[in-house]
Amino acid sequence: MVSSKIKVKTPIVELDGDEMTRILWQVVKEKLLLPFLDMKLEYYDLGLKHRDDTDDQVTVDAAEAIKKFGVGVKCATITPNKDRIKEYGLKQEWRSPNGTLRAILDGTVFRAPILIKNIKPTVSCWKKPIHIARHAYGDVYRNAEIRVPGPGKGELVYTPENGEPIRLTIQDFKGAGILQGIHNTDQSITSFAQACFTYAYDNKIDLWLGIKDTISKTYDAQFRIIFQDEYQSHWEKKFQEANLDYNFTLIDDTVARIMRSEGGMLWACKNYDGDVMSDMLGSSYGSLAIMTSVLVSPQGYFEYEASHGTVQKHYYKHLKGEKTSTNSMALIFAWTGALKKRGELDNTPDVVAFAEKLEKTAVETIESGVMTGDLMRVAEPNPHNRQVYAVEFIEAIAENLQVRA
Ligand code: NAP
Ligand code: MG
Repeated sequence: MVSSKIKVKTPIVELDGDEMTRILWQVVKEKLLLPFLDMKLEYYDLGLKHRDDTDDQVTVDAAEAIKKFGVGVKCATITPNKDRIKEYGLKQEWRSPNGTLRAILDGTVFRAPILIKNIKPTVSCWKKPIHIARHAYGDVYRNAEIRVPGPGKGELVYTPENGEPIRLTIQDFKGAGILQGIHNTDQSITSFAQACFTYAYDNKIDLWLGIKDTISKTYDAQFRIIFQDEYQSHWEKKFQEANLDYNFTLIDDTVARIMRSEGGMLWACKNYDGDVMSDMLGSSYGSLAIMTSVLVSPQGYFEYEASHGTVQKHYYKHLKGEKTSTNSMALIFAWTGALKKRGELDNTPDVVAFAEKLEKTAVETIESGVMTGDLMRVAEPNPHNRQVYAVEFIEAIAENLQVRA
């Protein structure tokens, strides 16, 4: 049967992971991908044990491989804490693999919901996915804070390498209070803008940016200025030709318009706004297991992943021999995202078509009523709905895929 398999021209970088997602990752490959595709995988085992064995070098190597080949796909991984050090006998508390990958690839994370007919967003006018881009550097996530104990002067001071300091009074405190300093860099905001325009253009959707430059006339305004420069220098013509818009508004206006929209745009958010708003979108659309996630670098590297974790609780049940109803949709869509991008870059439309068929089959399997427990809780009630175990769900998709093959 080898001859009838679809050939994927360039290797895909595979980053294996941990716990329940590692188990399902394997099943997804065996049942939904390898029977249909002739593909080479550059395999990196980011399972916690192997990260520890290699002093986390494997994570760095995987990032370098994504730079070499262009497209990677990542399973969920454990970010170690004190408990994990004991559980796995680790040499040290290794950094979050996602943090390491983002630092090397200099990327922005984009998330979007998978729309399924019998799982209605709680916001009823949302008909198309709302994609969100979260700037993952700086602001309140890299702040300096002081608990002000009593009367005194709070100041903002910048001391240049050569020259006189610039000094501003933030507040003359008459009593106790709080004080905070935050920053961002032109380089990071520019990368963010480039990644957002690239993603919106690739996905043929409008780009919306919301900030508060009426209040923050220097800090937030810098986001507006950099996005505007990037748009005018590199995208205006391309966007017009593709009939796409770049919209800039105040963040409160953006939120109001998002709530009344039918969706179908990329919403670029500052770090804190992205943190808050992506959880709002995730909960409205149904479950983290039906969200896609991709790290896009301005240099054109792509890393597709599931946005949920390793589903530890289900894994412990699995170790005790119990079957779990873990949802593999986000894992499947990480693979299809990578395959579609690979096919597009390699100019192999049959690979793109296969990935699209797999996505459609997975969605229609749920629409036919076959789904895991997390979705049973949010799906429209129907006597046909049937909760299945994790592997049964993947097998149901495989069966439907065979019918279409
Ligand atoms: P989690 O793995 O996302 O799971 C939290 C809960 O969400 C689960 O217990 C389950 O709820 C539900 N859930 C998540 N994904 C599901 C799925 N595919 N199907 C069904 N239910 C799902 O988060 P966590 O338990 O807090 O974290 C576990 C490990 O994942 C941690 O070591 C953390 O470091 C890591 N993590 C990795 C990533 C990543 O690699 N991108 C992201 C986040 C966390 P019920 O128990 O109610 O069924
Ligand atoms: Mg959050």
